[in-house]
Amino acid sequence: MAKVLVFIDNPGPALKKASLELLTIARSLGEPAVAFNGELHDDVAATLGAYGAQTLYRPSAADLDDYLVGPKASYLAAAVLTAHATVVLTENSAEAREIAARLGIKLGAGVITDVVAVDPDGTAHKSVLAGSWTTTAKATTPVAVLTVKANSITPEPAVTGTAPGTITVEVPETATAASARITARNEKAASGRPDLAEARIVVAGGRGVDGNFGPVEELADALGAAIGASRAATDAGWIGHDAQIGQTGKTVSPQLYISAGISGAVQQKAGMQTAKVIVAVNKDAESPVFEIADFGIIGDLFQVLPQATAEIKKRKG
Ligand SMILES: Cc1cc2nc3c(=O)[nH]c(=O)nc-3n(C[C@H](O)[C@H](O)[C@H](O)COP(=O)(O)OP(=O)(O)OC[C@H]3O[C@@H](n4cnc5c(N)ncnc54)[C@H](O)[C@@H]3O)c2cc1C
Repeated sequence: MAKVLVFIDNPGPALKKASLELLTIARSLGEPAVAFNGELHDDVAATLGAYGAQTLYRPSAADLDDYLVGPKASYLAAAVLTAHATVVLTENSAEAREIAARLGIKLGAGVITDVVAVDPDGTAHKSVLAGSWTTTAKATTPVAVLTVKANSITPEPAVTGTAPGTITVEVPETATAASARITARNEKAASGRPDLAEARIVVAGGRGVDGNFGPVEELADALGAAIGASRAATDAGWIGHDAQIGQTGKTVSPQLYISAGISGAVQQKAGMQTAKVIVAVNKDAESPVFEIADFGIIGDLFQVLPQATAEIKKRKG
């Protein structure tokens, strides 16, 4: 059976949905194992077991986070060899893709990025050209490295869980020798809102907010939602680029997506069309967003959103 190694960098106090997705895919490909970096809490280890991880690998070095990605790629390469893995799965973040690329070079492995589904034989599916085409690719090398987009599948625990043991992987001393060291970190002020990629509800604003995200923020806070944006809004500097949803932004798959002042261009739809329920607020009845909306409100977002916020607050008491 193929050995499949899932890389989870800093699992934190609770696993992200994206990590659980990777484990679910790993089980469909063979025998899953996890290479992690950073601290591993007991209940996180238990969840990894519940999702079928047979073995956990940790690096011998505790300071990989003090460097840019090079040493993490060296650790992962050593973990692949220790685990005899033939498939490696990672997230699709910019950092994970850079690690994947370096791993590909170290192991002579084929690397496939932006994956949205994987067949049991390892064939990867990608959604390209703003979701209008699906392509398939399969690595022909002994080891394949796939970076999988979050919200591609519904995570499911294994029928039979495991109690995985932990093996320490020796990180070569040379790994950190020539690597750039991180000298300072400034934490971004926490918004208190859920993570956009994981949120059950997303309220997104576009060019129609005209520089004022206030009504979007108030509605999001009344619903406990994350805030997203179209590229027009992020390019205008009204909100950070990490809020961008779409082909060149994040892919989200919430239970509820509220789109306000967004026209629904194909590149925006590529990042949100799998949302369970889409509510669109737009003052132009001809706007293409209404083609994919489950509920459409033709109106001015500066009137509609505050009314919705007030009603939600009233009902919540
Ligand atoms: C290669 C490439 C990649 C791209 N990637 C992305 C991506 O990842 N994400 C993305 O979003 N875009 C992306 N784009 C840009 C995309 O094509 C659109 O230009 C962009 O999504 C438009 O943003 P918007 O809908 O906010 O603005 P617009 O298209 O200008 O639409 C604004 C909408 O707001 C409505 N409106 C205005 N005022 C109000 C009001 N007061 N109340 C209610 N409605 C109002 C208008 O009727 C209009 O429908 C990409 C483009 C390219 C070429």
